Amino acid sequence: MAVPRRLPPLPNTADLLRMYRIRAQKQLSQNFILQPTILDRFAKAAGEPFGKEGLRGKIVVEVGPGPGGITRSLLARGAEEVHVIEKDERFLPSLRLLQDASRGALKINLGDVLNYNISKLFPTLEKPHWLDRSLPPITLVGNLPFNVSTPLLIRLLKHMETKENIFAYGRVPMLFTFQREVAHRMIAPPGDQERSRLSVVCQNYAQVRYKYTLDGSSFVPPPDVKVGVVSLVPLKQPYIDLPFEFVNRVVTTVMHGKRKEIKKTVGQLFPSGYMRLKLTDQLFAMTDLDRSLKPTALTMDDWEQICFAHKQICEDNPSIRNFVYGFTRDECDHQLLEDSRAQKQRKAEEKKRDSFYEEDEKDEEEEEH
Ligand code: SAM
Repeated sequence: MAVPRRLPPLPNTADLLRMYRIRAQKQLSQNFILQPTILDRFAKAAGEPFGKEGLRGKIVVEVGPGPGGITRSLLARGAEEVHVIEKDERFLPSLRLLQDASRGALKINLGDVLNYNISKLFPTLEKPHWLDRSLPPITLVGNLPFNVSTPLLIRLLKHMETKENIFAYGRVPMLFTFQREVAHRMIAPPGDQERSRLSVVCQNYAQVRYKYTLDGSSFVPPPDVKVGVVSLVPLKQPYIDLPFEFVNRVVTTVMHGKRKEIKKTVGQLFPSGYMRLKLTDQLFAMTDLDRSLKPTALTMDDWEQICFAHKQICEDNPSIRNFVYGFTRDECDHQLLEDSRAQKQRKAEEKKRDSFYEEDEKDEEEEEH
């Protein structure tokens, strides 16, 4: 079994920032953690999905290492390899210092995590099966800027659904920091006033756990808000096994005006007017949902019923397939008109093609005779 790694003495993170004259950049929302106990708590939490073994012998991908405070704790806890993805090249000298001290266990990558294919970092690693009982020996972590953590989370949920990018390696667990309010929304159960679109899409694809809170004073410079550390472990099977974009659109629409009853907000899935009334009734008839519930009260089973009923209705009524609530009436009518024009044109083309083949067949028959 791998043992925790003892790194040679290095300047501490605060000294590194001073040595390399690095000041936090506001546009990259840089807030550094400098205290060793806080850094180590994060690294310890990163190893928890692996039980007693922790990070020993694991591959860790850290996004936004900055000067390398968390990185150092991850290495010290025995991670076999730590691959960092950092956008700001000012951190290269301090990361290289750590790389030398780690004897190559630290791999440095410059890039923007929002368009990075993480799976290319370990091309030779065996790809375990998604349904394997144990988790793959990889974890993805980061103390990210708030303006990056939510878009990254959405991108990761999409990739969880399609099993791409880092999820080509199975159910990779994750640990990230979020603004505390966002973290609360991610874990909010049905009936909680924080229950939102984010709660449903996160919980549809992953087991989400709120680990602990960090005060603003844990960071340099301190942010104005508190920070929640959240872990996510992909589920073997999502509750609603449909494409992310579809589930996200349905949940966003029905959650819009979430203090209203679902008999109103479910209707937003359909173009206004007669069609809305008819199709809303049809959707409720296909489910056993109480129309007076608030969207925030819906369980994952309820959302599954809504999504599958909506999918069926879209298949039966192609003109509403691309309807997105929030279009003006004109845009919506225009969209329907476009849809019916496209449908007419498609039919005309099909007719032309059929008659063309019929003529061909006739010609062939005549030639044979
Ligand atoms: N991990 C360090 C710590 O805890 O002290 C730094 C945290 S700081 C909040 C966020 C880090 O993410 C910064 O180093 C910043 O340059 C980096 N970053 C910001 N946007 C990024 C992106 N799109 N891709 C990769 N890194 C990014």
